[in-house]
Amino acid sequence: MAKQNELNYEYQNREVELDVARSFRFGEGKISGYVSVFLGALSLLAVLAYLFPAYLTTIELRQAYDAKDLQQILKYGMYFSLFFGVLTFVLGKFKRMGFAGILLTSIAFALGGYKIPVGPVEPIRLSLGVDWLILAFLGSVFIFMTLEKLFPKYKNQVILRKEWALDLFYFCFNHLAISAILIYANYHASHFDWALNEQVHEFVRDMPILLQVVLIILLADFVLYWEHRWFHEVKCLWPVHAVHHSVENLDWLAGSRGHFVQIFSERAMVMIPLYLIGADQTALDIYVGFAALQAVLIHCNLKFSFGFLRYIFVTPQFHHWHHSSEKPAIDTNYSAHTVLFDYLFGTAHMPGDHWPADYGTTKKLPSSFVGQVLYPFRRLVKR
Ligand SMILES: [Zn+2]
Ligand SMILES: [Zn+2]
Repeated sequence: MAKQNELNYEYQNREVELDVARSFRFGEGKISGYVSVFLGALSLLAVLAYLFPAYLTTIELRQAYDAKDLQQILKYGMYFSLFFGVLTFVLGKFKRMGFAGILLTSIAFALGGYKIPVGPVEPIRLSLGVDWLILAFLGSVFIFMTLEKLFPKYKNQVILRKEWALDLFYFCFNHLAISAILIYANYHASHFDWALNEQVHEFVRDMPILLQVVLIILLADFVLYWEHRWFHEVKCLWPVHAVHHSVENLDWLAGSRGHFVQIFSERAMVMIPLYLIGADQTALDIYVGFAALQAVLIHCNLKFSFGFLRYIFVTPQFHHWHHSSEKPAIDTNYSAHTVLFDYLFGTAHMPGDHWPADYGTTKKLPSSFVGQVLYPFRRLVKR
């Protein structure tokens, strides 16, 4: 009976997805409406970040980009939002979305648009990562959504799948909180001052950068493997991590879903080895870029042959099995970067070229953001 209900549920889901797919017909204005609203919202956020850089941008990221250069991208974003807003109006069916896009961009123009003077920023300790949110969103849409359209695993899955808005909310939350996450992770690592060793630092810094990156990846992977495994195998920790597993259709956005306790603890744990080995800043930057891209990539709806790399690195297929609700795959494939520790500790599951048929948790979680945030605490009280 339960299986039958599940099948009905799956069937309804698929129907909803196909309905959404059918509703995205070229020439009706829905696509241009969404593009206009998203570009309008991003433009307004960017303008606010230019107005209040100390509060709405992150120190670490400010060093990596030129705010003046990015104003050129903002300029095109604003004009494209207006263009697609007008187009939506002309096409007729989704006038309200066109209006929303134009309104958001008009407010951005009224606040100074892409001509706000850029000057030195007085750093404050805790800020919101609006800059990180905008750049990560644009980067992800360009890189991962393109890959998903070119090499999809599940061809019928649409961009605006069930619960996409919830995952977008998680995406925004996690990116805005970057400064708080880093402060917490650094504070956590500082408790290991006693283990710092200058000889280790010298030894590591004498290595070629590439070797330092490999060392960082392996150390981080070891920590992340065990941290992840505990979230699965320690009973009181599982409800926290279950939030990440509650997604039933994986794509570039799905990996964003994660309880803040898990996000904060993950970053704090991985910071310990990075802090202790004292690697070169360039090696650390390469690792951070690699880890950020791989974390999104492995959740993508992407069937791409990675050749021999699939025997070294965690790929979408490997991590999709981790999200499967099918029995042999449950509690397997914990690694974040390489497949090494899963094979070493006997938790790897990679049945040839097969992919999972079912995703998600065996027990349903609340479907709202607040419901999911409170879920582990409610479970604790119930015990
Ligand atoms: Zn997991
Ligand atoms: Zn995942």
